[in-house]
Amino acid sequence: MGFLGGLFEKKYCAVCGNQVSFFGKRKISDGLLCKDCEAKLSDWFDDRRTSTIAQIKEQLDYREENRKALANFKVTKTMGDGDWRLLIDEEADSFLITAADIHSIVKVNPDIIRRDEVITSGYSLGERKTEETQLVDGKRVSYDPPRFEYSYNIKVELKVRNPYFDEMSFQVHPTTLHLHKVEWAAKPKLGEDHSDVTKYLENAKAEQAKIEQYTQVADEIAHWLRREAYYAPQAAAVNPTAAAVSQTPLQRDAQAFITFCNTTATMPEKAHYEDLQKRIRDEQNEIRRKGLAVTATGKADLAALDQLAEQVTAAYKEAVLRCSGV
Ligand SMILES: [Zn+2]
Repeated sequence: MGFLGGLFEKKYCAVCGNQVSFFGKRKISDGLLCKDCEAKLSDWFDDRRTSTIAQIKEQLDYREENRKALANFKVTKTMGDGDWRLLIDEEADSFLITAADIHSIVKVNPDIIRRDEVITSGYSLGERKTEETQLVDGKRVSYDPPRFEYSYNIKVELKVRNPYFDEMSFQVHPTTLHLHKVEWAAKPKLGEDHSDVTKYLENAKAEQAKIEQYTQVADEIAHWLRREAYYAPQAAAVNPTAAAVSQTPLQRDAQAFITFCNTTATMPEKAHYEDLQKRIRDEQNEIRRKGLAVTATGKADLAALDQLAEQVTAAYKEAVLRCSGV
């Protein structure tokens, strides 16, 4: 077949067999997918191009099972105030992250996640600073003192165990939040007229309050997501290796925390860190209380726990530095 023949050759979806149009075709690693099949994939899935036909088929089966399960999903609690929200079935200890309203859930088919599938969660505060300028003699110049508009987007971010995706995130407020500030070069002097600055900053307090309010919302959501999941039973571990199986819950949680710290772009929580350190100390005290500190095994255990505490601290400190942009 010649070049033109190839160009006009009919193409078919590797999954449903329907003909795909020139603009409606989506590449997967070993074939083509149609728009309709692509629309059925998870919102959180982003490995289409490297997925095989078999993997896509498997995911579509899972998505259909998910759709059926949604019929029994009872929303008893909602968290978040943005387009995307957390819809919770408290009895099933499961949740959805979706922009769909309750009545169109089955149609939109958001993935049901069990809370014990959450590996970790936190929130991020995206900040952007823009100077506001004024037009003087046809030129844009700074105000005196310079004025700045800060924009914020507060997102809950989580890592989950799922065969098709591992990260989810959503903004907890409807639109970008703003905060207006001025930067004084020198302390304003008594008697100077700064009524224009006062006017400019008239909403700053309310803006600040809103940012704090949504930071708290994000923190509450991240906390709810992680409440039990962070210390989830060992059975929930992904691909448990021989080493992982022989780990104690404390070792496993510490390892999960270290891994999180090494990879996170969001600030690890101090409370997590302190909790782990406390558990390590408690375990050491338990060894001493039982009088095992004098035995070789007891000594080795104490030393291993010291080392674990050091590793946790090092990973935490490094993550804090990295996440604060230092
Ligand atoms: Zn198709």
